[in-house]
Amino acid sequence: MRVKIEPRDECLGDAICADECPEVFVIDEEDGLATVTNESPDESLRDAVRNAADECPAEIIIIEED
Ligand code: SF4
Repeated sequence: MRVKIEPRDECLGDAICADECPEVFVIDEEDGLATVTNESPDESLRDAVRNAADECPAEIIIIEED
């Protein structure tokens, strides 16, 4: 799995993704937008990443499955 946020400037900064999977998503303190800290999450995190993508209101969390 590969994870990215694109286009990042459409992020609403609501932290839904960071709440769902803080191991992969954090809100950048500089601009208040989500950023990916782990682009290749382990298997144990993948369901949480998929949930974050499903719940993202901007639909900008992009997952490329292996
Ligand atoms: S859930 Fe989507 S809109 Fe909300 S902070 Fe994460 S990437 Fe941004």
